[in-house]
Amino acid sequence: RNKTNDKRVLVIGLGRFGGSLSEELVTHGWEVLGVDNNPRRVQAYADSLTHTVVADTTDDEALRQLGAHEFTRAVVAIGTHLEESILTTSLLVDMGVPHIWAKAISRRHGRILQQIGAHNVVLPEHDMGERVAHLVSGRMLDYVEIEENFALGKTRAPKEIIGRRLGETRVRSAHGITVVSIKRHGEAFTYATTDTVPQKGDIIIVAGKTDAVERFAELG
Ligand code: ADP
Repeated sequence: RNKTNDKRVLVIGLGRFGGSLSEELVTHGWEVLGVDNNPRRVQAYADSLTHTVVADTTDDEALRQLGAHEFTRAVVAIGTHLEESILTTSLLVDMGVPHIWAKAISRRHGRILQQIGAHNVVLPEHDMGERVAHLVSGRMLDYVEIEENFALGKTRAPKEIIGRRLGETRVRSAHGITVVSIKRHGEAFTYATTDTVPQKGDIIIVAGKTDAVERFAELG
């Protein structure tokens, strides 16, 4: 199994999460085998995914028939059916699939998935909830926490930096953030340099510690 050449992904569970994930992968040139035990879900994705199969993935034999053991990457996108999610993940671990992503609906569910050997656990609802909290509570236009206490925020350029070269504004020492990209009205985002002079209405992307990014967005 050669990770770099293998452009195939097994996606189990074609609900909202698994479906969107699969379509995004196909858009980016990946071959996706989408599996669900509900024929209607499979039918819904038959045209947009590379291959689709109706199967119960808690059945070891059914998984083997799909060739699950030959995949380098698999995503278990079963959420609400805890037992199905755990069993499926455990079978993929037993088969030695080297990169397993599993979706959890709660931290406890996530903990179990990790303990049985999922390599990456994602908590889409928790993560999105946290993210939206940052948008609701402040003036942030978009927000991504890259890891514990480091974030990227999208915000309007605050008065303080308008009409001045970024190099002169010393935002890094004054506010603990770096302006990494800038977008002029009607234009595309471009990277920011020390010579960039933000104008009123510009949108910027800033990077830094979560609190610093949050505070800086409040100035905008
Ligand atoms: P979402 O919130 O993303 O829609 P769900 O947990 O509701 O996620 O959906 C997960 C999908 O997984 C459903 O379409 C369901 O039919 C499928 N699924 C559940 N159990 C199994 C199983 N044992 N084998 C295959 N697919 C399953």
